[in-house]
Amino acid sequence: MPEPAQQTLGLRCPVCGGARLRVAYTRKKDDYIMRVRRCLACGRRVVTREQV
Ligand SMILES: [Zn+2]
Repeated sequence: MPEPAQQTLGLRCPVCGGARLRVAYTRKKDDYIMRVRRCLACGRRVVTREQV
């Protein structure tokens, strides 16, 4: 996949469906990692949790 490493594969903006999401910040929790991304198409913030 020719996508930057910052992007999670398969993740899309729930609002516009755009695949280009920039990571705003990452925060480690006890049992998961929370990432806040911003859609480059519509500017919507998208919060994701990734299990570790
Ligand atoms: Zn969007």
